[in-house]
Amino acid sequence: MNAPQERIVAPAAKPRVIPRAEHTISRSHILPNALRVLYRLKDAGFQGFLVGGCVRDLLLGMEPKDFDVATDALPEQVKRLFRNCRLVGRRFRLAHVFFGQEIIEVATFRAASAPSQGEEPLADADPEDGEAPELDEPDLDESQLDEPELRAAPAEAAPVQAFAREARPPLHADSERRFDETGRILRDNVYGTIDEDVWRRDFTANSLYYNIADFSIWDYVGGMEDIAARRLRLIGEPETRFREDPVRMLRAARFEAKLGFEIDRQTAEPVGTLRELLAGVPPARLFDEMLKLFLTGHGAKSLEVLRRRGLLAQLLPSVDAYLASHSGGLVEQLLLKGLANTDARAAAGRPLTPTFLLALLLYGPIAEIIESMPPEKWHELSAIVEACDRAVRNAQAHLAIPRRFSLGLSEMFALQPRLEHPSGRRALRLLTHPRFRAAYDLLLLRAELGLASPEMARWWTQVQEVPHEEQGNMADALSQRTGPRPERSRTGRRRRRGRRGPRAS
Ligand code: ATP
Ligand code: MG
Repeated sequence: MNAPQERIVAPAAKPRVIPRAEHTISRSHILPNALRVLYRLKDAGFQGFLVGGCVRDLLLGMEPKDFDVATDALPEQVKRLFRNCRLVGRRFRLAHVFFGQEIIEVATFRAASAPSQGEEPLADADPEDGEAPELDEPDLDESQLDEPELRAAPAEAAPVQAFAREARPPLHADSERRFDETGRILRDNVYGTIDEDVWRRDFTANSLYYNIADFSIWDYVGGMEDIAARRLRLIGEPETRFREDPVRMLRAARFEAKLGFEIDRQTAEPVGTLRELLAGVPPARLFDEMLKLFLTGHGAKSLEVLRRRGLLAQLLPSVDAYLASHSGGLVEQLLLKGLANTDARAAAGRPLTPTFLLALLLYGPIAEIIESMPPEKWHELSAIVEACDRAVRNAQAHLAIPRRFSLGLSEMFALQPRLEHPSGRRALRLLTHPRFRAAYDLLLLRAELGLASPEMARWWTQVQEVPHEEQGNMADALSQRTGPRPERSRTGRRRRRGRRGPRAS
């Protein structure tokens, strides 16, 4: 017989309601604009809940990345409530409520169980129209912002306004759900109620609803216990849920890395056989997931989890193969160190670029391609650029890497020999190159691992710190030390002594 925690999680017909006094989520931890949206929905007679990662993170004492709102109001009804609102997503409509740079996403409860592949609106999904949204910030009064919840729970909902419930078309008006031959959901388009909405969510920890009406938490799936036990469990039958949407395997890895949760045995088990289904996921969606795995503060841990669960081979097979055949080598050290630096930057709120991440991940495959060329070509810019192109093309089979990032990657690598062998005062122009900062960061990392000269890395650090006039003197002093200008090679190209491209050894 299965132990209780190993049973398949099926949402209860009624939620367990955890009153405000019995949980730790305070309104002072909720983004004021999210509260504004929730209150306005409530005042118009709709249900308004926070749901998903924000409830989970607040319960864990972490700062949520975003605040998602779920409601029984239809998208058009949400739009009528907020002047600063746009509907996004061609197929399944979501409302985005804008407050300056901040967007609160408001989703109508859905009865189906998965976002469809590639059709789930992304952050930059096409707005419904081209107008700039007007700012419209309903005021919050004191009692809405602080914590008088234990006394303030309203006995009755606010009066229903003219545009609210009576205008509502029947639920399930547009119900349609289709699967492909592997069980993947291709279409689902069913509005529903909150107790249907819970079924479509992935993990129990992501399926708690915070109710603005009385500040309680609604738990249909034992999410509170799972959060307390730091356990990640899929709702429903795991194999079916992974087949519906294979990206859930990557999401499991991400939450394992981000939250330090343990994946429940029943949830983890099918990943071994189902991971190949990721090949059928649109590459743009995989690229998006890859960024979430590596650029949100837990990249080093994500790499470890992805490798351990055999998922890196689905996302970046060339990287997985390189790391497997050069285990513990310099490239692996460079990658781990680079990801640790990236995580530290994320923690400090500093900007992160996908270009630098790609350079770290593809360093091994690029070095391997360069080293497969005749040694006399290793220093040539054309060889470096070609190696970058080939490595990117391989990765493109699974991930849709936007061109601006692949171009940036080539530039970063092409700048390495120029940074390692600066040629007089002309080298100072590199300081204003748009890719200088990223290339310099890569040089530092390479130097730390003995893949580039630490002395040159220090020179570039210093030259950025000294006044402008002094930079010229530093460049002159360097040319005197490194001797005459490089001679021409037999091919007519300039060859610099000891010049090394981004090799791995
Ligand atoms: P974070 O924002 O910290 O990355 P999150 O859990 O909020 O994590 P989102 O991608 O913002 O993740 O999704 C919000 C919620 O939508 C999730 O908590 C989950 O309930 C639901 N969800 C998102 N993607 C899926 C999916 N592929 N399958 C099922 N439910 C999903
Ligand atoms: Mg979220």
